[in-house]
Amino acid sequence: MYNPKSLKAEEFINHEEILDTLKFAEENKNNMPLIREILDKAKERKGIDHRMASVLLACDDKVVTEEMYELARQIKKDFYGNRIVMFAPLYLSNYCVNGCVYCPYHHQNHHIPRKKLTQEEVRREVIALQDMGHKRLAIEAGEDPVNNPLEYILECIDTIYSIKHKNGAIRRVNVNIAATTVENYRKLKDAGIGTYILFQETYHKESYEALHPTGPKHNYAYHTEAMDRAMEGGIDDVGLGVLFGLELYKYELAGLLMHAEHLEAVHGVGPHTISMPRVKKADDIDPDAFDNGIDDETFAKLCALIRISVPYTGMIISTRESQNVRARLLELGISQISGASRTSVGGYTDEIRPTDTEQFDVSDKRTLDEVVRWLMESGFIPSFCTACYREGRTGDRFMSLLKSGKIHDCCHPNALMTLKEFLEDYASEETKAIGNKMIESELCNIPTEKVRGICEAHIKDIANGQRDFRF
Ligand code: SAM
Repeated sequence: MYNPKSLKAEEFINHEEILDTLKFAEENKNNMPLIREILDKAKERKGIDHRMASVLLACDDKVVTEEMYELARQIKKDFYGNRIVMFAPLYLSNYCVNGCVYCPYHHQNHHIPRKKLTQEEVRREVIALQDMGHKRLAIEAGEDPVNNPLEYILECIDTIYSIKHKNGAIRRVNVNIAATTVENYRKLKDAGIGTYILFQETYHKESYEALHPTGPKHNYAYHTEAMDRAMEGGIDDVGLGVLFGLELYKYELAGLLMHAEHLEAVHGVGPHTISMPRVKKADDIDPDAFDNGIDDETFAKLCALIRISVPYTGMIISTRESQNVRARLLELGISQISGASRTSVGGYTDEIRPTDTEQFDVSDKRTLDEVVRWLMESGFIPSFCTACYREGRTGDRFMSLLKSGKIHDCCHPNALMTLKEFLEDYASEETKAIGNKMIESELCNIPTEKVRGICEAHIKDIANGQRDFRF
């Protein structure tokens, strides 16, 4: 039976409820009075539920779709302004005991070299990332209790936070590792992680089990209930995601939103982020082998729908996607992107992009300087801010700030100050010139006069060599 408050996977992600929802959506896809009602509800900017979102997804009226896109753009602007948070993934180890059929790290792949970074290698990778200008990382690892036990992950986190090189520092480490126990989540929390990210891959239980035929990840309930254990362990920022292409996207959207509704119902706080990966080519993986690939138009519609369904949730797009796709999605709701990513173990210290341990082919291969410049030329402020988490503004504290709209007095100045640091320490002359101009004009958009004055002073301090200011 469907129950968003249940702690049992099959009750809060309920197959019958999803089938019912999809049937209801199909029956009502041309029901204009209902669609109008849903759009009006969405315009209140408090989100819409999985049923309403599914009706909008099923509807292919061009006018409705355009209205939806416009609303997504507007919500994006109201809640996140024109800021885009930057991050990079750091692959620690590709040892893995699972048999995920879409991932080249699956344990039966015997021809890829298996690598695990030593602490000295972590150091070198982090220095390379700092030298590009990154301040926020997402660490990634396969699941292997012998080669990558939690103690190894914790040691890496400690190493990462301890490295201070020139003006560089990693100020927030997000973690994308396999589902684990409450006790381990508590240890991750104590290690000072930002968001705990775990992609559901697919919400469809039967497909999930077929796509994860062997290894601990095969257990659908353990995987699906991971965020509840993370929250029980004290982690209040969690990141969801579906790997689009594995199952029917309509099923996945309903499941994903039900998961968000469940977290809100049980813990009083929804997901901090939702990532939007699509299956990509990788070593022995051919994305065409999966029947449910989605085209760019459907992908854009899903992005806009997630934006209007959960306005308070950050949305992430990685370098799996090309510059063009990223440009489109930035308009429709994305608030965080990675830049200059290497998806191989040790990839940042290799001069030439190594492909033998890449988790997936990277589409957007630009340098961080190029991505930053491109964002600014497109009217976005690249932000290297990590302040909320360092100021204890996580979970419901972060959400209430966002809901009240007061966030702009923190985020906007923080974005400008961290961009200024980037320009001073890492940018090319061309990027620096564009960035300084942008900072000058964007200072006017800080709502409170007093904050604006302090920010202006700190921008000068940064030019004079000081670092790490935040609101
Ligand atoms: N191993 C961890 C786990 O069990 O959840 C997560 C780390 S994995 C490095 C990060 C994510 O990459 C996976 O959750 C999956 O969604 C995604 N991924 C795997 N293979 C992919 C592919 N061929 N194309 C795109 N994304 C892929």
